[in-house]
Amino acid sequence: MTISSSIASIPNWISGRVASSDATEMSPVFNPATGLITARVSVGHLKDVAAAVAAAKAAFPAWSSTTPLRRARVMFKFKELLERDAKKIAACISSEHGKVFSDAMGEFTRGLEVVEFACGAPQLLKGEFSEQVGTGIDAYSFRQPLGVVAGITPFNFPFMVPLWMIPVALVCGNTFVLKPSERDPSCSLLIAQLLQEAGLPDGVFNVVQGGKIAVDALLHHPDVQAISFVGSTPIAQYIYATGTAAGKRVQALGGAKNHLVVMPDADLQQAVDALTGAAFGSAGERCMAISVAVAVGDIADALVAQLAERARALKIGAGLIGSGENLADSGMDMGPLVTSAHLAKVKEYVDSGVAQGATLVVDGRNRPAGVPQEGFFMGGCLFDHVTPQMRIYQEEIFGPVLVVLRVDTFEQALALINQHAFGNGTAIFTRNGNTAREFVQRIEVGMVGVNVPIPVPMAFHSFGGWKKSLFGDHHVYGPEGIRFYTKLKAVMQRWPGDAKDGAQFFMPTLK
Ligand code: NAD
Repeated sequence: MTISSSIASIPNWISGRVASSDATEMSPVFNPATGLITARVSVGHLKDVAAAVAAAKAAFPAWSSTTPLRRARVMFKFKELLERDAKKIAACISSEHGKVFSDAMGEFTRGLEVVEFACGAPQLLKGEFSEQVGTGIDAYSFRQPLGVVAGITPFNFPFMVPLWMIPVALVCGNTFVLKPSERDPSCSLLIAQLLQEAGLPDGVFNVVQGGKIAVDALLHHPDVQAISFVGSTPIAQYIYATGTAAGKRVQALGGAKNHLVVMPDADLQQAVDALTGAAFGSAGERCMAISVAVAVGDIADALVAQLAERARALKIGAGLIGSGENLADSGMDMGPLVTSAHLAKVKEYVDSGVAQGATLVVDGRNRPAGVPQEGFFMGGCLFDHVTPQMRIYQEEIFGPVLVVLRVDTFEQALALINQHAFGNGTAIFTRNGNTAREFVQRIEVGMVGVNVPIPVPMAFHSFGGWKKSLFGDHHVYGPEGIRFYTKLKAVMQRWPGDAKDGAQFFMPTLK
């Protein structure tokens, strides 16, 4: 695709200022609601990555020896500035990703919460001390930063996912190189500018734009100590294998297929509300979206009927109206998909479900009436009588497509989920505490909701799935994030001389 050179190019951010890329090849950035190209971004270049890593390496000695209290103060200021610019950030998310304004504000808030968590750095980085482990010997351990760390992030949360990583890595004393998604790269620069305004020294945070070229350069760069990745499972597996083979610490979060079990005793209204929001919110482009409803027993007919009604009633359109200072929430439930290629892929999945014999109760493949003709829109889709052998059940679709499987018992629901390749999130809706408890204990999934549809852990816990949804040993943010971005050092110390000399040396006034 040729992109007019008059279209603005989204730069890198290196050593505290914007920097153009050495690449000549560019990829387009769209406004998914209009289908128009709004910007272009470099596909990445080795020299860009080399410059960003060099800047981060040069900034590391000073930043890592800055006290945790001072690092935390930068985060306090950053939080304040983010709140000041919340609307601008949400508009930036919506205009490149397509999600509606309320979803973009939700994303903003969840990202902000990790910054708030990082403000507690001095407490989070406290070490451990054991007195008198041998005669006259004390032992202590504490955590030190790794050095230059990199983050590689997906298109579906261009603000929140980078903030799963950046605040935690920085307050631990690391310096950072972000490689955002080439499909919605602009938020990365807003983050960079606000970090600078918050007082972060130049070079501590850098951005390189691009795709595979930039990622591979980071994976093989000898000065990058650790990689945090969030994206699809095949790429997560590649990042984990390549990064660890190159001697780096890697956490690679992958795709998902999240089930919500509706027990016969569930509050049906609550379950339908939860499923509607969790399946169709952000057009299903969420790693914690619920894409499978498992109806247990005789609740299935009523559940499908009500879900169909809700899927047909979704208000679909651009997430924002107006422009500049007058930008406003359009009040829509669901925006467009991110690109026309992704839209085509999702529709192809729906075709495959029909071809494999599932019942397509609500067909959103054709634009519902009133939905803009331009832009990458489709309606919500609902399938019933889906079987575990179908592609629409086995694979991640990442679009507004909810599939219903009918089972007779709780045990069948549990077995179904445990046999699935992914293990990111799941939920159960029931009024029975024992059923819920049994589910929580026996389910092989990393994040579980009980009468809660999208159980995303708060910033002071940690986020991560099991099975093909995460490669590596550490979840992101929260206490696990602190562990990922630091290495432990243990010290045994003894002081020569007798206690009196020592006392004189340390406490001269206490004679
Ligand atoms: P993606 O895997 O296509 O891209 C993610 C990142 O990897 C991007 O920065 C991209 O530039 C880079 N990349 C793409 N292809 C590459 C290649 N061949 N070699 C090296 N790097 C490459 O994912 P996406 O489409 O941007 O995002 C959607 C996916 O992310 C979904 O599968 C979703 O489930 C997943 N996701 C997971 C979580 C989680 O927490 N588990 C959170 C958000 C998104």
